[in-house]
Order: sequence, then structure tokens, then C-alpha cells
Amino acid sequence: MITVDEALERLFALVKPLDTEEVPLIDAAGRVLARDVTAMRDQPPFAASAMDGYAVRGAEVAPGAIFAVIGEAAAGHAYDGAVDPGQTVRIFTGAPLPKGADRVIIQEDVAREGDRITLGQSPESNDNVRPAGCDFRKGQTMTAPRRLRPADIALLASMNIPFVPVRRKPQVALISTGDELVMPGETPGPDQIIASNTFGLKALLEDHGARARVLPIARDTIRSLETAFDLAQGADLIVTIGGASVGDHDLVGRVAGDLGMDRAFYTVAMRPGKPLMAGRMGDAAMIGLPGNPVSAMVCGHVFVVPMISAMLGLGATPAPRHTARLAAPLPANGPREHYMRARITPRGILAEDRQDSSLLSILAHAEALLVRPVRDPARAAGDQVEYLPL
Ligand code: AMP
Ligand code: MG
Repeated sequence: MITVDEALERLFALVKPLDTEEVPLIDAAGRVLARDVTAMRDQPPFAASAMDGYAVRGAEVAPGAIFAVIGEAAAGHAYDGAVDPGQTVRIFTGAPLPKGADRVIIQEDVAREGDRITLGQSPESNDNVRPAGCDFRKGQTMTAPRRLRPADIALLASMNIPFVPVRRKPQVALISTGDELVMPGETPGPDQIIASNTFGLKALLEDHGARARVLPIARDTIRSLETAFDLAQGADLIVTIGGASVGDHDLVGRVAGDLGMDRAFYTVAMRPGKPLMAGRMGDAAMIGLPGNPVSAMVCGHVFVVPMISAMLGLGATPAPRHTARLAAPLPANGPREHYMRARITPRGILAEDRQDSSLLSILAHAEALLVRPVRDPARAAGDQVEYLPL
């Protein structure tokens, strides 16, 4: 048996960062920035008013001071002249500050009569000016790699970057295997069930930046599995589900091996999970997951998502973990790292009562995978533990 960390190392050895493409800014959300990008301008490009009010020379501001209004500056409409002593320009938020002025008195602090304003008795001390470049300067960079969030998209727009260099999306082919499986919407026979894993994994992997194709279900025959692998061509990563153990009907390793995969089969010291197969098949990486629905999803979180992140250039690192206090005691753990389905409650993290790896309803109810290290001793309520958020 190898540890989860060793298995991950071997999986990372099968993949590398994919090539780069340029996408329109409007399509860049959620993509991974592949190269540093540089601001094409200062923001704001000029000292700008932060308020609606009157632009003046700051040195002249005093309770009851009087100024002559000589013009107006609005957003997109600069005032051309200068503000000389005793003068002011009516100004609105986002307008360039006129020459000479270095402070904006908010309109609430001013009494206006015709072309004359008088300041109140206690004008606020803020200068209400956004200095040029106070947000960012020309040449400033957004550094790669970075998964682009909505605020990043807004910043890139402000930097005047209409096309964004991103990593190509990893193409994943998902293959369910088993004579007992039918697609959702079909009518299963009396001894059949609905394939669920490929759909859950597609959702999970696409959430993390991949593009996943659900292939037709492969039957437990060599011919059918060969057809499925053939349909998977063009993928960067082929994921099979089920048929990975050592039973008479577990043919995935054999067929993949005959098609050229270096048949690396690992027993991983984890629960749920355990049997895992991986290798390279031509240009693609291949990973074979166990068929039990919860095992497949847990392996998706623990192994496949980090492989996707590595292909996206985000580095070869395990799924990030959080910490929480136990809401209830837990017994000692055995020789396999245990990923327990759990909920986050006000009292702390709480493992679900039923941990069987076939129970999708429990997984759907859970918010976290509580990680029990190998041979972790019994833990008391209040002890700190690690978990993967779901
Ligand atoms: P296997 O690894 O093929 O022996 O499958 C283990 C268990 O998972 C069996 O009960 C299968 O019926 C079930 N199973 C396998 N593949 C899927 C799938 N794609 N969706 C739902 N259940 C599956
Ligand atoms: Mg099977």
C-alpha cells in the first residue's frame, strides 16, 4: 500500500501544465492566467474628484472663506483653465481636478449664491481627491498563475487588457464501466442502477477549470472497453470509473494495459478509495477510480482535482485543507487515511453517522471531508482536525 501523498506524487508525474491560449476578457472568468499581464495605463489617469463639490486651493480653505465659481468639471468633461487664488470650479465625482486646485469641498459644506460660494464653519478635513495612479500604475502587473475571479476581471478591464492569456482547459474523458449501469433517464432493468459517478465528476472537474465529456457507458467486455478508450482520444486525461479492482469482471487495467498504458496499479492507504490505477496512454494521462460512488467522488477531490490544477499551471499541490474543532469525539483511526463525510455545525465539525462508500445521499448532505490521518489516536470534542471543503 502507498500513502495518499505518494499516490499524488505519481499522478503529478503523469501531467504537466498545458499550453496557453488568448481569450476575450469577457470569457476569462474562472480561467487560469498563464502569463503576467501589465497595466497599459495609470488608474485613475489624472487626479480625480472623489465627491460632488467645489475644487479649490487647499491652502485657502478656512471657515467662512469665499470663492468665485469660474466654471464646471464633470466626469468625461475636464475644465480647461486653472483655479487661481480666490477661485473655485464646480466639480463632480470622477472629473479631473483642474490645474491649481488640490482639494474638493463637498457641496454639503458650501452655501452658494449665484457665482459665489461661502464655506461652512467646519469644512471636513478630507481633500476628496483620488491621486493619479492611486489604484495602479502603468506597468504594474497581475501575476500568473492565478484563477481569475470576478474582481480580477474588473481589474483587467480597468488595465485595458481586452484579451487574456490563459491555460487551455484540460480535456477530460469520463468513462463509466459496468453491465449494471444505464444513463439517467433510461429505464433500468431489475438488476441495474443508474450511472451517477461520471455526472458528479464532470460537475466537480468543470468547477475546477476542466472541460469534461461523459462517454457512453462501457460494458464489462474487452470490446466495449476498447471502444470507450477509442472514443476518449484527444483527451488530456482519461478517467475510468469502476472495474478497477481484481474481480473477474474488472477488466479496465487489462484493456488499458493492452492499449499501451504502463499498468501502474496502486493500493492506496485511504478510505474510501483504495484501488487506484494510473499511467500514460499515448498523449493522455489515465486514472482509474473505484466504482463506489462516494469513493469515486472522494478520489475526484483528492486526486483528480489536483491533477487538473497541475495541468492548469497552478502547481502540483494537494487539495487545500482547512481546520476546525471536532463537535463530537471520534474513535482511533486505522492504517488508512480516512476521508469522513462531515458537516460544519456551530459547535464544530461533525462526522456523519453512516460512512459507507455507497451512500451518495450522505455525501450530498455533507459539507466537508474530515481527514483522519493514518493511525490517528482517538480524538475528543474540541480537538483540532483538518478537512477538505465540499
Ligand atoms: P466496481 O468498482 O466496478 O466493482 O463497482 C463498485 C460499485 O460501484 C458497484 O456497486 C457498482 O455498481 C458501482 N458503480 C460502478 N460504477 C458506477 C457508476 N458510474 N455510477 C454509479 N455506481 C457505480
Ligand atoms: Mg464494475
